[in-house]
Amino acid sequence: GSTIGILGGGQLGRMLSVAASRLGFKTCIFEPGGDCPASHVANYHFQAEYSDKEALTRFAEAADVVTYEFENIPTDALDIIEPLVPIRPGREALRVSQDRLTEKDFLTDLGLKTAPYADVTDQSALDEALARFGTAAILKTRRFGYDGKGQARINGPEDSAEALASLNGAPAILEGFVDFSREVSVIAARGLDGAVACFDPGENVHKDGILHTTTVPARLPAPLRTDAVLLAARILNALDYVGVLGVELFVTPGGLVVNEIAPRVHNSGHWTQQGCTVDQFEQHIRAVTGWPLGDGQRFADVEMTNLIGADVERCEALAQAPNTALHLYGKAEAKPGRKMGHVNRILPAQASSER
Ligand code: ATP
Ligand code: MG
Ligand code: MG
Repeated sequence: GSTIGILGGGQLGRMLSVAASRLGFKTCIFEPGGDCPASHVANYHFQAEYSDKEALTRFAEAADVVTYEFENIPTDALDIIEPLVPIRPGREALRVSQDRLTEKDFLTDLGLKTAPYADVTDQSALDEALARFGTAAILKTRRFGYDGKGQARINGPEDSAEALASLNGAPAILEGFVDFSREVSVIAARGLDGAVACFDPGENVHKDGILHTTTVPARLPAPLRTDAVLLAARILNALDYVGVLGVELFVTPGGLVVNEIAPRVHNSGHWTQQGCTVDQFEQHIRAVTGWPLGDGQRFADVEMTNLIGADVERCEALAQAPNTALHLYGKAEAKPGRKMGHVNRILPAQASSER
């Protein structure tokens, strides 16, 4: 069988490896850390820094296709891999999604709605944008932010200097605060042949900036459900995308507003492991290896709950709960804020329609 190279060794890489293995593929991961979630299940582990050109070359030569579980892969590393083996999803998806400013420009050019945004180069650019948006706002680093890190809320002009200082000079954008009723996301896939398949939108609740639960079906009027799927397909086609993509959306009275996109399998798609015949991980493996996309039709109502830090202590009780599938990532230390695992609970259909 052929070998799939995965950049990154976290839980997403681990679950991609499991899915790949089930389809008869081997996996090799590239990850600087030693004892990481994916290293326990992948066939090979290239443990080296992203600046190590020789290790990257050997990794690329060992793989028939390379994919990734996070979007912040250094461009220099991609430059070494790309001539040796196909990278899927492709470079354009990474270029667009590595930088919040580039991403918002891309989405706006596609005709999609985003929060009002402005490039913040200095204090006066920040104050000018704040005055223009005329609402509360969020200052975000353009790159490397996740789980709400690298963000500062601004409720009025008096917060502006402190907010900017908190980013330590990192390039930033200001986003106007979107007054949303709910957050939903679409996990979408596009095959090598251009076929598109979307999972049913999920409804997301965050706690302390980190995803807490995803519930399907999302409470979403039928026209918005269609919109969500169509706009995800539009993004996939525009990027000539191959693989799974996560699209985070705000539901507002004026329709759907795109928060951000992630060129990979996504935490808010973990429910598919118990809700669909072919889950997001298998769908991604199918896409990047050129297989046909599988049946991602949802057959159950599901609530996914992340186990963050000490939450994992509940896993013994959860292991005995009915209709509950427990997923643990094999991380040794349950540090606060660290994603240790998740549970997918199958909901009685009636309960979820009464939400
Ligand atoms: P992730 O872990 O999803 O990659 P992130 O660090 O990239 O998170 P965002 O998705 O940009 O962060 O923001 C985290 C959360 O903060 C959002 O899910 C939403 O609840 C809130 N949020 C972010 N931007 C806005 C905005 N412009 N208006 C209102 N709420 C926002
Ligand atoms: Mg993000
Ligand atoms: Mg987000």
